Amino acid sequence: MPEVEVETAVVGAGAAGLAAALELRRAGVEVVLLEAGGRPGGVMQTEEIRGHRVERGPNTCLVRAPALAFLQAQGFERELVAASPARRLRFVFHEGRLEPVPMGPLGFVRSPLLTTRGKLRLLAEPWVQRGDAGTESAQDFIARRFGPEVAEKLLAPALTGIYAGDERELGARAVLGFATELERTHEAERARALADLIDRLSARLGQRAVTRRELVEAHLPEQAERAAPATLGEARRRGEGDEPVAPQGAPPARPLRIFARPEPIDALSEVPDGPPLRFRWRRVLHDVAAIEGPERIAAPWWRRPDAPTRDYFRAEDSHGRRFWLYREGLWGRETERAKWFVHGVFG
Ligand SMILES: Cc1cc2nc3c(=O)[nH]c(=O)nc-3n(C[C@H](O)[C@H](O)[C@H](O)COP(=O)(O)OP(=O)(O)OC[C@H]3O[C@@H](n4cnc5c(N)ncnc54)[C@H](O)[C@@H]3O)c2cc1C
Repeated sequence: MPEVEVETAVVGAGAAGLAAALELRRAGVEVVLLEAGGRPGGVMQTEEIRGHRVERGPNTCLVRAPALAFLQAQGFERELVAASPARRLRFVFHEGRLEPVPMGPLGFVRSPLLTTRGKLRLLAEPWVQRGDAGTESAQDFIARRFGPEVAEKLLAPALTGIYAGDERELGARAVLGFATELERTHEAERARALADLIDRLSARLGQRAVTRRELVEAHLPEQAERAAPATLGEARRRGEGDEPVAPQGAPPARPLRIFARPEPIDALSEVPDGPPLRFRWRRVLHDVAAIEGPERIAAPWWRRPDAPTRDYFRAEDSHGRRFWLYREGLWGRETERAKWFVHGVFG
């Protein structure tokens, strides 16, 4: 092969190589573009099959400001074909069928792509704490905000379609920049609006009238919180004090709603000190489909030496409802007949 001296060589005539070579030429640099394949374009491949245009690689492109500036500078702006609104309808191949990707709240409710649990998890999105999108993968970011099902069923196919990449390796900020930015600005705005509301209400009604729940060091869960002036919480949020922070990504150890008085239930277990298989609460029978536990919470013996120990379980019934249950009394040591209670619900 003859040797040729060139000022600059660009290797690969895919989208990146073509763009780089064009920019270099525009800057007045002498450039040679080397391509191993028989045609330029890389993974971009357009074919006409029986009168239909088939894109074997990318089919759409999000034209943000830098890309538009490049296309304008190169004189390609007029070549752009805007996607028709009808193409907003996307499908995911799910359990042997093409299912439309849900676009609005109603679409999500009806979509078979997500289970009931996945849909309920979506509803918790407004209360999700801000994370560090700068270091998270796209998968971690979406799973944290919308739940693991959305990441698996919707994000993974979308990113495979767009980047042909692995959502666990693509950075959240790089591929979901608009969403990570929204999280950053929205969170700050919401915190400001809430602080403002609390200040106004407290000034008008008095500090004691506007309260928030505060964690207290206590053994029994129903005593582990108390009402405190909401303005105190705001001061802490502004960094004027320490506030306990829940670990990110871990499943919630405590339910969304804890009953001030645990409610007695009838529970059936295989062995006396085993987890429940089935229980009746408020006259409804629940078959336990999944269970985690026990988490043992000892009684405050320094106050009541005879107080029984509690073994807590996180139970999910066959309909996906999740409960926080406990058995009172250690079988054979503290009691011969354990009592069961529902102490809270997770959703
Ligand atoms: C199926 C699929 C669907 C996609 N859908 C979308 C989409 O809808 N929207 C979107 O924005 N993006 C999409 N993408 C991503 C996008 O197409 C790619 O990110 C982009 O085209 C990659 O361009 P590139 O130049 O970096 O690489 P490539 O397109 O892979 O080009 C690299 C080129 O370099 C050549 N080459 C490699 N090694 C050498 C060598 N040693 N010497 C000479 N030549 C070499 C190769 O032959 C090839 O032509 C999709 C990707 C795939 C695979």
